[in-house]
Amino acid sequence: AVEVHDVHKWYGAHRVLDGVDLTVRAGEVTVILGPSGSGKSTLLRVVNHLEKPEIGYVSVNGELIGVRKQGDHLKELSERAILAQRGNIGFVFQNFNLFPHLTVLENVAAAPVATGRLDRDEARRLARELLDRVGLADKETAYPRQLSGGQQQRVAIARALALRPGVILFDEPTSALDPELVGEVLAVIKDLAKSGTTLVIVTHEIGFAREIADRIVFIDGGKIVEQGPPSEVLDKPRHERTRDFLSKVL
Ligand code: ATP
Ligand code: MG
Repeated sequence: AVEVHDVHKWYGAHRVLDGVDLTVRAGEVTVILGPSGSGKSTLLRVVNHLEKPEIGYVSVNGELIGVRKQGDHLKELSERAILAQRGNIGFVFQNFNLFPHLTVLENVAAAPVATGRLDRDEARRLARELLDRVGLADKETAYPRQLSGGQQQRVAIARALALRPGVILFDEPTSALDPELVGEVLAVIKDLAKSGTTLVIVTHEIGFAREIADRIVFIDGGKIVEQGPPSEVLDKPRHERTRDFLSKVL
């Protein structure tokens, strides 16, 4: 579903992504681990077209973005095409990023209406279904500030689902939460994983990663150091840098 081909991203002399290749197959759960500053968020932002790579390209369901090495220009996507593609990618942020002036129901129903996929009544019906799925059916008229962090993050997940995306990207979805609220958000993500949704998750929750991941990708210094099933990367890491990282977080 998602292919990242030899992506390089730099800011001035600072190489943030240094030749990343990654394939995320439909229905798979990929967990990205790595130290602070290793490029995890940047990688997700490139996939969602929030950042453009200097070299390399990303394809989501066959649609390309970016410029290939040696300067063969690939199709540059128009703003419109990028928006359309982004509609196929859900993004859940560390800090929820809900619309503060909209109710919970409106937050979830907004995107399908704005993109013309559903009319207002259909979108509200879908939003109710999704809120029920994340355990918040009774909160539809609340505003984000009236919810706990865990509840806000569950609304954000329902909002991401409302566009029926082919893949959902999570950037440290529980790291802004009080410890007692982490479990409810992880439970919702586990439920999505079981239902076969394609997920890419940046997290520092190693136990959760072990439970949920089909594949763990360890990234350091803008490069993928190793990847494989949790039983390999977490239990038998082959690289010193992976071992060093795991010894600090486990
Ligand atoms: P963390 O675990 O702390 O979230 P990360 O792995 O997500 O880290 P990124 O946010 O991808 O790391 O950042 C990678 C590097 O790129 C960092 O050194 C960061 O300072 C740098 N960086 C990110 N965005 C920009 C920017 N817009 N301008 C300049 N440097 C940037
Ligand atoms: Mg980050």
